[in-house]
Amino acid sequence: MFLRCRKRPFADGMCRRHAVEEADRLFSLYIRRRDGRCTACGSTRDLQCSHHISRARVWTRWDVRNATTHCARCHYRFTRDPAAHHDAIMCLIGTRGWSNLMNRAYGPIVQGRRMPPGPLRGSDLEAVLARLRRMSALQEVAT
Ligand SMILES: [Zn+2]
Ligand SMILES: [Zn+2]
Repeated sequence: MFLRCRKRPFADGMCRRHAVEEADRLFSLYIRRRDGRCTACGSTRDLQCSHHISRARVWTRWDVRNATTHCARCHYRFTRDPAAHHDAIMCLIGTRGWSNLMNRAYGPIVQGRRMPPGPLRGSDLEAVLARLRRMSALQEVAT
């Protein structure tokens, strides 16, 4: 599939879109294996990787502290009810964990203002992919 792609290589010989798709695939698998069940209701059916801070924020998109496992039902329910979602996130990571994630996603607060992080470069995405592959391999050994 990647061989036929004609777009400019961005990371590990893949174009940006394909490299992001590969990182998403590895990340989602890792999170679902890590949790093994919906962290809201305990179900083991139709499990999905659910981000705390939106996937649109690239610096926390593949941060394992920024995701949990939800069943399709709970995931859908939380998408519709941001307040309930936020409560569930606080139960999982607390205000300290949330503030750490916010700093990573939107940049740290300096003199009352967020200092936005720079764009994600190819080398950053390559580091993300390498880390996710290493974590997946360790996870397979452990299970
Ligand atoms: Zn491509
Ligand atoms: Zn659930």
